[in-house]
Amino acid sequence: MSLWLSAIGVSRGVAIGAVHRIYGADLDIPEYAIDAGQVEQEIERFDTAIDDARRQLQTIGAQIPRNAPSEIAAFIQTHLLMMEDVTLTEAVASRIRVSQCNAEWALKQQSESLVDVFDQMDDNYLRTRRDDVIHVTARIQRVLLKQERALDTGDTPDGPPPVIVADELTPADIILLHQQGVAAFVTEHGGPLSHSAILARSLRIPAVVGMHEARRLLVDGETVIVDGEAGHVLAGPDDGALEFYQHRQKRDERYQRMLSVLRDEPAVSGDGQRITMLANVELPEDAVDAQDVGVEGIGLYRTEFLYMNREDSPSEEEQLAAYRQVLASVDGPVTIRTLDLGADKTVGRPAKMATNPALGLRAIRLCLKEPAMFRIQLRALLRASGEGKLRIMLPMISTIQEMRQARHLIAEAKIELDKEGLAYDPAIAIGAMIEVPAAALAAPTLAKYCDFFSLGTNDLIQYTLAIDRIDDEINYLYDPLHPAVLQLIRMTIDAGRAAGISVSMCGEMASDNRYTPLLLGLGLTEFSMHPASLLEVKRAVMSANIAHLSQRTAALLALTDANAYREGLEALTRELRH
Ligand code: PEP
Ligand code: MG
Repeated sequence: MSLWLSAIGVSRGVAIGAVHRIYGADLDIPEYAIDAGQVEQEIERFDTAIDDARRQLQTIGAQIPRNAPSEIAAFIQTHLLMMEDVTLTEAVASRIRVSQCNAEWALKQQSESLVDVFDQMDDNYLRTRRDDVIHVTARIQRVLLKQERALDTGDTPDGPPPVIVADELTPADIILLHQQGVAAFVTEHGGPLSHSAILARSLRIPAVVGMHEARRLLVDGETVIVDGEAGHVLAGPDDGALEFYQHRQKRDERYQRMLSVLRDEPAVSGDGQRITMLANVELPEDAVDAQDVGVEGIGLYRTEFLYMNREDSPSEEEQLAAYRQVLASVDGPVTIRTLDLGADKTVGRPAKMATNPALGLRAIRLCLKEPAMFRIQLRALLRASGEGKLRIMLPMISTIQEMRQARHLIAEAKIELDKEGLAYDPAIAIGAMIEVPAAALAAPTLAKYCDFFSLGTNDLIQYTLAIDRIDDEINYLYDPLHPAVLQLIRMTIDAGRAAGISVSMCGEMASDNRYTPLLLGLGLTEFSMHPASLLEVKRAVMSANIAHLSQRTAALLALTDANAYREGLEALTRELRH
């Protein structure tokens, strides 16, 4: 009999394989006392396990695919650093010594006490660190228990590819499993904006998250079909279902082959409107991948990654070199976002703990509070602008005052450069990310202070719907199609058009081709996304009739009946056919 399960699809595609359940953070940990004479030997066993775990991670780090988002390398780096941290290494050794217990038990106790400390801190970023402690501990435990092969699917090359079913997976696990040719991932926890989900998407591995109880309901070795778009898992499918999904797989393969021919085609809609296709990058090297899929420029360069995983801030010269590298790697204009730290992205500054970090001293607010640090970035950006088409983008703008203050600091930096005889683009464009509802609502006024807008839908959705984007308990509420979100997007696009400034979208919504007809209908003309999604979205653009979509979208947004609205939206997202 077939079993049909549903959760959140985070990486599209269909996979058919055999269930392979993995137990990670929930390993069975033995607890026993040791003799005083065995203590040093036990500590040595623990030290060796740390060394082995570190080597495993280094190997994984060296095998990260070139098109993987750069956060993945940063993530592995964080885990490596954690394995060197005395609160993990020396503290466990001392527990073994004092309590005369086995290494696994000592590590378990230390990990639990670290997790307790993080749990008491009401901070999203530290919550992520808490998960890191759990993941790092699980890796060392697996080595101690000689269960590293838990992550080895052990399947023969001729058998059906494994579908991994786990509580949750780290990006490092995903890379390791990808190398073993897994067909799909199903996890009991996690959300669409987690690093693991982002990685699964860029590796094009179907994935479904948040399927609670998956390991209880599914049995090792049984055949399952995973639909990473709908978020479905079908266990024990009958012949009809197998045939249906095999057909869909073949169709997807043909589609991918067909997409590659679009690389050098301009993104022109069926009714002749030119749409601009841009890339999001996190590190200068990512710009090379972007060029590989024929982007027309960079719509978002997240500079905060320059500041992460280090003790000090990057100097003006170091930033200048990074900005130059991006400018040199792509042909079109490059939009560089100023530092967006805070909330879940911090550099370990000893700031006091905010009660609601996502609503606190983040992004432009932090930069305006620390003008000395901001000035270094602005000088580097201005100097790079003398050598290519560069635009400065300010994150999390919520007031006109912030635009004014930022513009004032930029003007001051220009005066300094003039005095020093250093070149820059005097007409450099300065724009705002629209990611706070207040900015979208005030867009007509804000436009007077901006040369362009860019819709950051990841945060716009978070702030509009009051849902923490990294909290997996409520990510089922994360809905790009909520009427409030669509109204704010429309208002921003309309305000930009009325003011004669460009409006792009660089949030994840722009990279999902199910939304392309709707966004085109709303009047969006610039899309910026991870390079892996670009050709697919370009294809959706090329098959669209924008005049027709505009009429349908306007009629849709005027609907007040919830059912009619949902049906209309579904019809619009179905507009795209392979
Ligand atoms: C966004 O909020 O949509 C965005 C692109 O910025 P980030 O995801 O870096 O917050
Ligand atoms: Mg944002």
